Amino acid sequence: MSNITFTMIKPDAVANGHTGNVINDFIVGGFKLKAMKYLHLSKEQAEAFYGIHRERPFFNDLVSFMISGPIVAAVLEKENAVADFRTLIGATNPADAAEGTIRAKYAKSIDANAVHGSDSNENAAGEASFFFSSFEMY
Ligand code: UDP
Ligand code: MG
Repeated sequence: MSNITFTMIKPDAVANGHTGNVINDFIVGGFKLKAMKYLHLSKEQAEAFYGIHRERPFFNDLVSFMISGPIVAAVLEKENAVADFRTLIGATNPADAAEGTIRAKYAKSIDANAVHGSDSNENAAGEASFFFSSFEMY
């Protein structure tokens, strides 16, 4: 059964000119675009999105990084979308990411790691609806 995941192309990948290549990797990887927008998060939005990480030591740096420039937010559809997308992007730390993965190719560090990917179907649905209304998903 087809399901969805949510992704962001993070400020580092956008600023470094990787947006087009990353979107191409999504599509070549078998993901269908259901929704996409280009936006610059506010501090309040970034804090809300990453609320589950509020107690973690990197929270403030993560929020500062995510508001440092514009991002691309997208909802992607595929069979087994959440797990397959995490395989496509690779490990959180690009130094540990498998060769050919998006983070291995485009990320420089564990904080500026090029892309976000949902970690469960439940979080994918919540993250998608954080950014998109049902009228904006196709
Ligand atoms: N992060 C960080 N330092 C860490 C762990 C995570 O800066 O030690 C950042 C990184 O940008 C990561 C995000 O926080 O993508 C969310 O962390 P998570 O553990 O959920 O990793 P992900 O699901 O993105 O692989
Ligand atoms: Mg995560």
